[in-house]
Amino acid sequence: MSSKRIMSGMRPTGRLHLGHYFGALSNWIKFQGQYQSFFSIVDWHALTTKFQNTREVEPNIWEIALDWLCVGIDPEVATVYVQSAVPEIAELHLLLSMFTPHNWVEREPTLKDMVKMLDSDESAAKEKVTYGLLGYPVLMASDILTFKGELVPVGKDQESHLEFARDVARRFNNFYNVDFFPEPKPEFTTTPLLKGVDGQKMGKSFNNDIKIADTEEDTIAKVKKAITDRTRIAKSDPGHTNLCEVPWPLYQIFASDKALLEKVKGDCESAAIGCVDCKVQLAGLINEYFRPMREKRKALAADPDQVRKIIAHGNQKARKVASQTLHDVREIMGMINW
Ligand code: SF4
Repeated sequence: MSSKRIMSGMRPTGRLHLGHYFGALSNWIKFQGQYQSFFSIVDWHALTTKFQNTREVEPNIWEIALDWLCVGIDPEVATVYVQSAVPEIAELHLLLSMFTPHNWVEREPTLKDMVKMLDSDESAAKEKVTYGLLGYPVLMASDILTFKGELVPVGKDQESHLEFARDVARRFNNFYNVDFFPEPKPEFTTTPLLKGVDGQKMGKSFNNDIKIADTEEDTIAKVKKAITDRTRIAKSDPGHTNLCEVPWPLYQIFASDKALLEKVKGDCESAAIGCVDCKVQLAGLINEYFRPMREKRKALAADPDQVRKIIAHGNQKARKVASQTLHDVREIMGMINW
């Protein structure tokens, strides 16, 4: 295993869906065998926009922990922790904020997107921007730099998100004339474009997602609603896989071999199979894929003490690394290590 550290996190906003699994978790599982991995449930980030509804945060932490553990994030290999259990991250956030120019945070493109999500009316949205939300990019930099993360998994389109953390790391090193923080680099991940059952991007808030934790019945019911080839009106009409919006792309992920894909394509285009049957077959493949994970999830959910122990152990491991970083940062900055 490389000595390089990789860091990534997820907000505890609810149970995870297939987009999270194929877009992030499946890569994390690969990375945990290659790098020193730090995976954080970033609950303070959830507060930047959900500060009025904090009651959901704790249950969602456990939901995410269950999802991560059941899909194969290995807490013996990776460090799996909750952000707020590592107060050193908050301390570094404060220290970094002392020398981060405010126009850096204001120009951050992710912040602009988040502001838009607060209210469609731009001036009303600006009213809702809190000091915490404005500082969110600094907190994100602190998440990475506390663990001296060198690599952060991102898609090609998200590379700019990392620039902020790199700029902050460079500024710290220049100010204090040290080579302390590595400048985190992107570890590019490929994400299959996963549509929700309505044909739009899969997302929890769009109510179009298939969750890792869904029951088999729920999965079948959801897949049955998936948008297919809109030009195929009757079952006897030949279908077109290239126009099939949701099931056909999902077949590319879940079909175990080419022969099955060819059969589905042939049956679709000759109208030998109707869309409902085709989708029920697809739901069967999805259920088969997730069955062992869902069973593991159920077993873990039935033993919350074990899950708490696993996370507490990860929190401890994370704090050990974080307290060393903060000890060194205080020393570099000329602060007292009380
Ligand atoms: Fe899509 Fe299957 Fe219907 Fe063809 S038969 S359009 S692949 S759902």
